[in-house]
Amino acid sequence: MKILVIDDEPNVIRLCQQTLGKEGFAVQGAISGEEGLRLLEEGDFDLALLDIKLPDCNGLDILSTIQEVDPEVAVIIITGHATMEVAIGALKSGAQDFLLKPFTPEEIVNSVHKVLEKERLLQENLRLKARLPILEISKALMSEVNLERLAQLTLETVRHALAADRVSLMLLDEKQQELSISAAIGLSDKVVSTTRVKVGQGLAGLVAQRKKPILLSEQVENDPALQALLTQSDTGSAICVPLMIKDRVLGVLNVSRPRGEASFRQDDVDLLSILGGQIAVAIENARLFERTQQEIAERKRMEEELRRRNEELMTLNAITATIGRSLDLDHILNATLDKVLEAIDIDAGWIQLLDEEAGVLSLVVHRGFSPEMAEETKTIKLGESMTGKVAQSGQPIVVDKVSEDPRLNMETGRREGLHAFAGVPIKSKDKVLGVLGVFSRSPRQLSPQEVQLLTAIGHQIGVAIENVRLAEQASEIEILRELNRLRSELIANVSHELRTPLGLIKIFCTTLLREDVEFDRKTQREFLHDIEQEADKLETIVDNLLDLSRMEDRRLRLDKRPTDVGQLAREVMEAIKLEMETQLTEHRFVHDFPPDPLVATVDPKRIEQVLRNLLNNAIKYSPEGGTITVQGRGDERQILVSVSDQGMGIPSEDLERVFERFYRVENELSRRVRGAGLGLAVCRGIVEAHGGHIWVESTLGVGSTFYFTLPVGTNSRPNALKT
Ligand code: ADP
Repeated sequence: MKILVIDDEPNVIRLCQQTLGKEGFAVQGAISGEEGLRLLEEGDFDLALLDIKLPDCNGLDILSTIQEVDPEVAVIIITGHATMEVAIGALKSGAQDFLLKPFTPEEIVNSVHKVLEKERLLQENLRLKARLPILEISKALMSEVNLERLAQLTLETVRHALAADRVSLMLLDEKQQELSISAAIGLSDKVVSTTRVKVGQGLAGLVAQRKKPILLSEQVENDPALQALLTQSDTGSAICVPLMIKDRVLGVLNVSRPRGEASFRQDDVDLLSILGGQIAVAIENARLFERTQQEIAERKRMEEELRRRNEELMTLNAITATIGRSLDLDHILNATLDKVLEAIDIDAGWIQLLDEEAGVLSLVVHRGFSPEMAEETKTIKLGESMTGKVAQSGQPIVVDKVSEDPRLNMETGRREGLHAFAGVPIKSKDKVLGVLGVFSRSPRQLSPQEVQLLTAIGHQIGVAIENVRLAEQASEIEILRELNRLRSELIANVSHELRTPLGLIKIFCTTLLREDVEFDRKTQREFLHDIEQEADKLETIVDNLLDLSRMEDRRLRLDKRPTDVGQLAREVMEAIKLEMETQLTEHRFVHDFPPDPLVATVDPKRIEQVLRNLLNNAIKYSPEGGTITVQGRGDERQILVSVSDQGMGIPSEDLERVFERFYRVENELSRRVRGAGLGLAVCRGIVEAHGGHIWVESTLGVGSTFYFTLPVGTNSRPNALKT
């Protein structure tokens, strides 16, 4: 301890030097205020003994100067009775004690010891107070879950409380057995980022290995490893404590002061050790929190991923279902496009199909297009613009900012305000059939998953198109097969029906041409008459066939005019009665029409043909005779005509089929009665061509009634014949 005595009496200085020197103090003297202040500025004094009455200046002034120059120097005033008042003022201004002249050596020693002890206690108190924040930090540590903030908070507090110039927190990589700096104060960024310390090496490594705190100061003579550390660095003293939970070291906390500054003490070590334990728990806590956060985030991500996949799957499923249910390509493409827009939530979309021969894509469906856009994209050449390139390469094209991509027509893009664009090929077995595209009018990015989904849908559409084409081919084949069957059936039926009259004509002719027989004129005429009749039958069959074929091709021409259907029916009946007379049948004919004419705009020749067929059948299929009634009724819309007989009737299962071509009811009689099975088919063709209906009601063994309707007006359905 260094003491300065400022007194103008050399005796006093000497006395102090003798007495205090014995006590182990280093005592210097100054005989004027001026010299005293100079020495104070130069030397590092702990205590000053100051005479208050100096010749060159006022003792109180010197006191305040001393307090300014070195506030840590304690001052004891030396005073006589005369200056007692002044001495008391000095005590008030911060002097620690006073000595009343004359004083004994014991009085000096006592006073010095008393003041220094007071000073020591004061300093100690201040030191302990400074450490308080370290004790208070623990609560903050426990609630901090961010490792970085946690480290920063700790280091800041420790540095202030321990007046350290470097503080660092190092964390241990347990696998590598290596420490690295996680946060530091007073170290360069480079040092922080590059320092790696193996366990067992350096101060931190030793602490991590020994799992005990180390105080590095001048008093480490007995530990050569630490001594070496001390001599190697510019560190004056340092403390390094392990951060441990139970037996596990998580890292270390380092504090150091440079050489020349006071050393750390054991109680600092104890304090930091307690703090080290708390930091370790806080670190573990923060890590756990981070892991939990990561786990939660990961779970959320997984859930999100699952949800997205699910949605994708549902979209694909819905599209597959649409495709599976329908062979209507138009419907499939429309429904699919709607699903696509819904699934990826985007403004516009379209489907173009490729005409391979022409090398052109044509727009088939679109949503969210302006009319100009639809017009501009109606046809796109292969390789041109974005979609043409997709079709040509067979690869998807995805663009986030259309305005920055030269492949799309800039003007269209700008006008339409296009941002993101994606086009994927519609493919089946590696063959490009078209393009599925979407675009967004607001800035957005199409994720790889969305593009993947689009690509999958592109394939689905490809499969659907292929399916529809196959089905079309299959049904074409089916139609061809049916036509072929009908043709063979036709040939078989027709040749059979033609053969009978032809055979008869041939027999009659051969007979007439016989040279050995001379036929009289009457017999000749009878033969010729038979020939004519058979020729008529041939003609009817051929006419019926021609009519049917015209009806099938919708070529049947109707020469319509207002016709009194009742009158027409009467004429047909009369003509048939005349024809019948020669055949001696037992039939009665009834014409049952209202007195006023029933007029409809029809082709009279064709309606006559219908009536003829029905009346002929009525006669043919009632061999026992009976009444045949032609009845007519009408309202402002239509006329209903019926032809009924009391003949054999038609089994109920054949009622519909008798109108089919070549269909004949299988029974004893129809085998005897000749017919080609064409008459009713022709009737139905004619009636339906007029816009009417034809049907039959019948009871076996009682009789049949054929009905047909005719619209009164000129409007009729297009010529059609259903088979
Ligand atoms: P077909 O030349 O055999 O008479 P149609 O087409 O006129 O040919 O008639 C088809 C079949 O309907 C006939 O073979 C017959 O079996 C049945 N059929 C037609 N009209 C009558 C009727 N009035 N009474 C009973 N069966 C009838």
